[in-house]
This record gives sequence, structure tokens and C-alpha cells, in this order.
Amino acid sequence: MKIEQVADTVYVVTGTNVNWSLVTDGSGVTLVDAGYPRDIAAVLDSIHQIGHHTNDLAAILLTHAHLDHMGGIPGLVERTGVPVYTGEHEAAHARREFIEQITPAEMVGQLRTPGGPLWISQTLRVIRGHIRMNVPTATAYDDATLAALPGGFRAVPAHGHTTGHTAYLMPAEGILFSGDAVVTAHPLLPGTGLQTLPTVFNHDEPRTRSTATTLLDSAPKLIIPGHGLPYPVPAGTVPKLV
Ligand SMILES: [Zn+2]
Repeated sequence: MKIEQVADTVYVVTGTNVNWSLVTDGSGVTLVDAGYPRDIAAVLDSIHQIGHHTNDLAAILLTHAHLDHMGGIPGLVERTGVPVYTGEHEAAHARREFIEQITPAEMVGQLRTPGGPLWISQTLRVIRGHIRMNVPTATAYDDATLAALPGGFRAVPAHGHTTGHTAYLMPAEGILFSGDAVVTAHPLLPGTGLQTLPTVFNHDEPRTRSTATTLLDSAPKLIIPGHGLPYPVPAGTVPKLV
């Protein structure tokens, strides 16, 4: 696990090939995404390392209901009863009323790609025993609730990677938590830079690409992706996909 402070109140934590973020207002903490199921100890440790207690969690904002982003949530809900918010459609996905995720056969297919074998072994290690996990308490956010959380968030619907994927913006700072709508690196991508994930991960590829462009056109100042390093946008420029 690696913790990077990227703004006065914002910490980006890298777990097993995936990021989650902690945003604090001094008393409470908003967690954006929560790593793989077996990242839970690291999620708890990261909260402690920025000087907070698990009970300081005000809410978890979920970008989308894939195992690498919602895995730590059940353990946190069990400990604290923290509310879990995402878009209405994605909340149903998190409750596993349907599933839009890479299949086991598609995962095996990645053995033929350059980074595939290592990625598969690392992934199996952190999902083992939790493949059918879900978040029964996931509920739809509303604008007022998001704005009142530590960080003061606004939801930015970012559909495509999953049908109900949401990015979250801190409007005052121009910080965009892009989840998997825009990433900067991934073990199965050949290079770094602003890009979308490989097609196998995206539920709707054309929509994934158009959403990524729309997000970048909104001219955020700092992009915090679900995978890869944070991307500070040079002042006065509009970021572009590689
Ligand atoms: Zn992901």
C-alpha cells in the first residue's frame, strides 16, 4: 500500500493494482472506492495512517460495482454501519441484481496478453473466497447528501465502463475522481497517460470512449483515476486521451 497526499484534504491510496481515496474535513472522512476484498486491512490501515479512526467515516462513494472497487466495503459497513452511495443503477449492480463484470473465461483469455499472467495471479489472490460478494446496503446518492459530505462532492454520471458508473467531482478544487472512466495505467495497458481500460473490461466500449472525452473536456485540475497515478492537468489546458 502507498499513500500519497495530493491536496490539503485528499489522499490517494494504492492497493493491489487499484486506488481508493480518502478526503477529510478534519473531523469526518469520505472514502471513494474501497479496493479489492483482500485490500480491507490496507483500507483500514490507510484511514489510521492519515490520523483518523474507522468511526470517522462519513460515507463511501462507489464509482462502480466491480470487485476491485467495492471489495473492502462489506468489512467497513460491518464495523461502522457507514452509508454506501452510488448512482441508482449502479446501486442495483452493487446489490448484484445484475452483473456487468469480466467473466472467468475472459480473465483466462488475458493469459495471452503481455501483463496477463501476473495480473491474473495478483487478482485471484485478492478476490479468493469473495467472488460473489455484494453490497446489500448500496443506495442511490442525492445531490444534497453528496455536497454535505467531507470534501463536498458532486456526482458526474460517467456511463460506459459499467452502465451506471459515476465519477465524483470536488467542485471547489476541480478534483475529479474518475474511477475507471479514465485511468492513467493498468497492468494490462501497454503505456501510461490518460486512457480508457482495455475493451474486455468495458460494458459498452463506444460509450466508454465518449464518456472519457466528455470528462476531460470538463477541464478538471486534477484527475484521480481508479488505476494509475493521479494526473495534474497543466493550468489553462484541456487534457486529452493518449
Ligand atoms: Zn477497476
